[in-house]
Amino acid sequence: MGLLVHFDIAALAILLIVLLTSIYRKMYKDMSSVVFLSMVGTTLLAAVFECAQIIMYAAGCRNDVAFMIVKSLYVLSHDFAAVMYFLYVISLAQTWHKMRQYPICSMLMCIPYLVNIVCVVVNVFNGWMFTFENGIETVHSNWIHYLGAGVYILVSIYYVIDNKELFKKHQMLALASMLPLTIASFIVRQFYPHSLVAIFANALGILIMSTVIQRPELFIDTLSQQKKYSFYADNMKKAFMNKNHVTMILVNISSYNSIYHILGYDETTQLLRRIGNYIEGINRRLNAYANVYYLDRGRFRVVINGFNTDKVRKYAFEVNELLKEKLYSKNIEVSLNAVICVARLPEDLHDFNSLISFGNDFHEKVPRTGDVVYAEELFTQREFSLVNEMDDILDRALQNESFKVYYQPIYSVAKQRFTSAEALLRLIDDVHGFVPPDLFITAAERNGTIHKIGSIVLEEVCRFIASDEFERLGLEYIEINLSVAQCMQSTLADDILAMLEKYNVSVSQINLEITETAANYDMSAMSENLRKLSEAGISFSLDDFGTGYSNIERVASLPLKIVKLDRTFVNNQDNPHMSVFLENFIRMFKQMEMEIVVEGIETEQMVKRFSDLHCDYIQGYYFSKPIPQRDFVEFISNNNSKAV
Ligand code: C2E
Ligand code: MG
Ligand code: MG
Repeated sequence: MGLLVHFDIAALAILLIVLLTSIYRKMYKDMSSVVFLSMVGTTLLAAVFECAQIIMYAAGCRNDVAFMIVKSLYVLSHDFAAVMYFLYVISLAQTWHKMRQYPICSMLMCIPYLVNIVCVVVNVFNGWMFTFENGIETVHSNWIHYLGAGVYILVSIYYVIDNKELFKKHQMLALASMLPLTIASFIVRQFYPHSLVAIFANALGILIMSTVIQRPELFIDTLSQQKKYSFYADNMKKAFMNKNHVTMILVNISSYNSIYHILGYDETTQLLRRIGNYIEGINRRLNAYANVYYLDRGRFRVVINGFNTDKVRKYAFEVNELLKEKLYSKNIEVSLNAVICVARLPEDLHDFNSLISFGNDFHEKVPRTGDVVYAEELFTQREFSLVNEMDDILDRALQNESFKVYYQPIYSVAKQRFTSAEALLRLIDDVHGFVPPDLFITAAERNGTIHKIGSIVLEEVCRFIASDEFERLGLEYIEINLSVAQCMQSTLADDILAMLEKYNVSVSQINLEITETAANYDMSAMSENLRKLSEAGISFSLDDFGTGYSNIERVASLPLKIVKLDRTFVNNQDNPHMSVFLENFIRMFKQMEMEIVVEGIETEQMVKRFSDLHCDYIQGYYFSKPIPQRDFVEFISNNNSKAV
């Protein structure tokens, strides 16, 4: 017969190596790898059929029906590999959903292969493409066979160029290599009809794709053996770009840091692998075809195409139950404290950046019920959406100057009148209305706007103190809250002193409140500020005493004039030990010659109790809530005139 089998044998060797190394490198876990392996498999079949034809002849077989079957199978499998190539391109671009969105285009893409099947079947009866006589093949027309494969390759390359934002450069080059290889094999066949190079050309293309695209280091995290962060980022960006609907199960292991600290690198790695395997087990059991990713710091993501609510609920429930169980490592019982959240993209999280910032710390913001959390339910909770949009809210407030300083009067027990007040910041957002200070102050500390906000408060208070109105009220000073981030800014002391000078406000007219927790931070950065301010004559209060975890030595080293007993501390009536603590703390601070303010006093009975305990000042809703400047002036004018 004179056909050269060498190219097919070389192709077989290449394809087998690609197949086995892909399996060895576990490159079969995601959709594009599965399609890639299917392409390798069909090309391998085509090579086997072509070799079989030659071997049958060499072995003396002259059964033309058998030759006809083997050759027809070769043509069908060879062209099917081209179909798989097209599908591989689609899965790399992650645009499967577009096949469902545009059914007519999808059907059109089936036509070349269907025509091919019809031609092969018709050929069996009329032999218009190829015939056999005593095992010797006569080719009448093979253009249809090349045309079918060519259409898929050309459409695929057009698709890559048209959607180039969905492909990396190396992917585009490797995919495009199939075109010159196919053209070259076609030309060779025209000049040397006995050289069977078509499959060999395909095998070379596959080898290029395998080495350039199907690289596990681009997909797999060596630590957890799951798909890695960069692959997750690529895929999620594509999903948002393609408006692909996916459901994500976000798993954040809250105790990751402590686990790593206790178990060390090797054991933590083993633990993460086990968790990854458990999740994959659920994946298989539920036939969910989900992609499992490991990001970092104990964060897994399970991504499922579409919104199959029942399946997702079951999946998330199983993951949650599994991670609630105690795991053992080095005979140490490990509690993961995992929080599991289900989010629909792009419905709940509209873009990649929101996904990343939500995923970073949702476990710290959600209530710990032990149940799976649903993002859609979270986002309907006001506080959660506030937290999520806090950066925008702060920007808006700074731009529209919508921060307002309110004042809460502070009553002096000895003088029986209001002698000072605390300045408390209020933010009424155009969209969300009242935003609690605890939320926006924390966010402002995180994003750095606290410094701007701090100087707005200081300026507003100085302007008020400098006014004639304030002088008439006869108040001694205003307390201003300083957050930890402010205390650590190197220019704080100079900025405050400059502001006082600008408004001609005396250092005795303000008092700075620092929180008890501030005493636990690195003192070196803030001690210089506190020293400068204290030397300039400014006094400090220790705010929220009784809520933090005090480092007594540090508290003692702060230049404090006043201690403010926190509302939660003074209101804790249930525990008899607390009132012993309270009474003794008050005595202790008195001995240290500090003044004491009790916060959060709401009843007359409490006013009496703390007056009897010799607290110096009382602050709370019993007298007044924090109120705007105008109301505050009226309040003090009315109440202090009565008191005098
Ligand atoms: P804080 O400095 O301990 O302020 C006292 C908080 O207790 C205020 O909450 C006040 O409204 C509330 N309060 C006072 N008396 C009562 C009472 O009788 N009952 C109850 N239930 N609450 C009472 P607010 O205004 O929500 O402020 C919360 C925290 O936000 C403040 O705690 C302070 O740490 C921070 N903050 C407020 N304004 C500023 C500011 O201008 N700068 C900084 N850095 N932090 C501020
Ligand atoms: Mg305060
Ligand atoms: Mg306080």
